[in-house]
Amino acid sequence: MDRTRRFPSRRRLLQGAAAAVPAALLPAGHAGAQALAVDYPAAEWVPASTSNYTAANRPSTYPIDYVVIHVTQETYADTLAIFQNPARRVSAHYVVRSQDGHIAQCVRDRNVGWHAGNWTYNTRSIGIEHEGWVDKPQYFTHAMYEQSAALTAAICSKYGIPKDREHIIGHHQVPGSDHTDPGPYWDWTRYIRLVNFA
Ligand SMILES: [Zn+2]
Repeated sequence: MDRTRRFPSRRRLLQGAAAAVPAALLPAGHAGAQALAVDYPAAEWVPASTSNYTAANRPSTYPIDYVVIHVTQETYADTLAIFQNPARRVSAHYVVRSQDGHIAQCVRDRNVGWHAGNWTYNTRSIGIEHEGWVDKPQYFTHAMYEQSAALTAAICSKYGIPKDREHIIGHHQVPGSDHTDPGPYWDWTRYIRLVNFA
């Protein structure tokens, strides 16, 4: 189903190593802590530096009303590295890889990511980055649209966000934003249709 599963992540390798250790020797709650590391079960947990987001307890502290769609203007690997670099002061909740739609979660949904360039929108949104460049439509693969739409559908269902263009918005629609992503080649009609039929 997911081609990326052929390649075990470092986390899975670590889990595999842990499985060889008798359960009694593991710290209490070890397995539970692993299971709760992501909000979206299909995502791989690749945490951003704690210097790159604001800890919160959403949706209690702030309602989650929007999903903000971004394009990275970087490779998938470089994007994850930027989010892990405390000097960069930037993060998004999720990053979707172009070639296969693989999803990394970098910030928990309850926390405020720094992706929209607008504090109010940051507090009220989930940010999803897509690997690619706004002027290179070949990066917007079917796998990426499908996996991202399934993620957005799950977020909307969980937080009661309407699955429409008023609430699933591009970074360029954020007031005060000087960014153009996801750009003219992002197929909104297709994306919203996929979100509604995911
Ligand atoms: Zn953006």
